[in-house]
Amino acid sequence: MSVDYAQLAVPGVRQLQPYVPGKPIEEVARELGMAPESIVKLASNENPLGPSPKVLKAIANAQSDLTRYPDSNGFNLKSALCAHLNVAFDQITLGNGSNDVLDLLARAFVAPGSEVVFSQYAFIVYPIVTQAVGGKAVVVPAREWGHDLDAMAKVVNEKTAMVFLANPNNPTGTCFSRRELVKFLEQVPKRVIVVLDEAYFEYVGGEDYPNGLLLQQDFPNLVVCRTFSKAYGLAGLRVGYSVASPVITDLLNRVRQPFNVNSIALAAAEAALEDQAYLAKACQINHEGMMQITSAFNALGISYIPSKGNFITADFGENAGSINQQLLQRGVIVRPVANYGMAHHLRISIGLPEENEQFIEALKQTL
Ligand SMILES: *Cc1c(COP(=O)(O)O)cnc(C)c1O
Repeated sequence: MSVDYAQLAVPGVRQLQPYVPGKPIEEVARELGMAPESIVKLASNENPLGPSPKVLKAIANAQSDLTRYPDSNGFNLKSALCAHLNVAFDQITLGNGSNDVLDLLARAFVAPGSEVVFSQYAFIVYPIVTQAVGGKAVVVPAREWGHDLDAMAKVVNEKTAMVFLANPNNPTGTCFSRRELVKFLEQVPKRVIVVLDEAYFEYVGGEDYPNGLLLQQDFPNLVVCRTFSKAYGLAGLRVGYSVASPVITDLLNRVRQPFNVNSIALAAAEAALEDQAYLAKACQINHEGMMQITSAFNALGISYIPSKGNFITADFGENAGSINQQLLQRGVIVRPVANYGMAHHLRISIGLPEENEQFIEALKQTL
């Protein structure tokens, strides 16, 4: 008798669809027979600046210790984060990217059959980590592509274990205000863990934009997740973190793999945090690139969802798939978001001015 091993997986995993990443430059270069240098990748919301020189120096220094396990407690990086964020050491959990922390949260708090609430078009890792632990996803219809926090509060019930909020959300770039968030938190029972994903926090300014850390005093069920992958430019090294109450943090620490963040990544993130000039430059370049691309969209009559992140998602109608293919042929990689139920849209990460220009030129040729 042959065994159908696929049927051996737990039910949640059996029905999972794997995460679809942006196409790597090398892969497109291979497929098209093009030089990798001539290809522009605007598909994974990476920082186009490249790493800070201070980070590269820290990485070089960390190399001498590679035979040792990393510091499981991440003492130096956590200490630097405490000083930077004005939070306590026992509130921080480091992750192999913030995706790791999202996974830890689901594993620690979501029992099979319990409900997890998130918005339509929300970051796709939320359904993945929910389903993997056998949680039941409760997807609330979006309002103008963004989270409908009132509707989300209404579906919370005694079976709800967790709510995922992304501010801004990826792939829509939408934000909610401090007032909206506070109103939501006031409606949700304190036994429901509310995960506020602030992966793009550093890019967003303005009085209306809430800093989740400032709300944790009043709402101890609030877990804030941030990352070094976006504005700090370290996507390849995989470092993210959460800030939560000491009790929640202790639970995450129990399910965490002992050495989930490697020693190079720990040293690099610490150096990145110190280089606030790099961060300011990254945000400035992003702001200018956003203007460059949205001006081109305006001129071409392409509608888009206003975005606070380092990416913009635009509506190309029925032709989105073929425009994506034609952009690829011209060496420009953007991100289809059909897997989010947004088959007419493409998401474009903001690049350097010349990369944005290459995208705009390629787009003009396809239209
Ligand atoms: C990019 C992104 C993350 C960060 O992922 P890392 O694992 O830290 O690289 C988290 N949440 C959202 C919404 C994102 O877009």
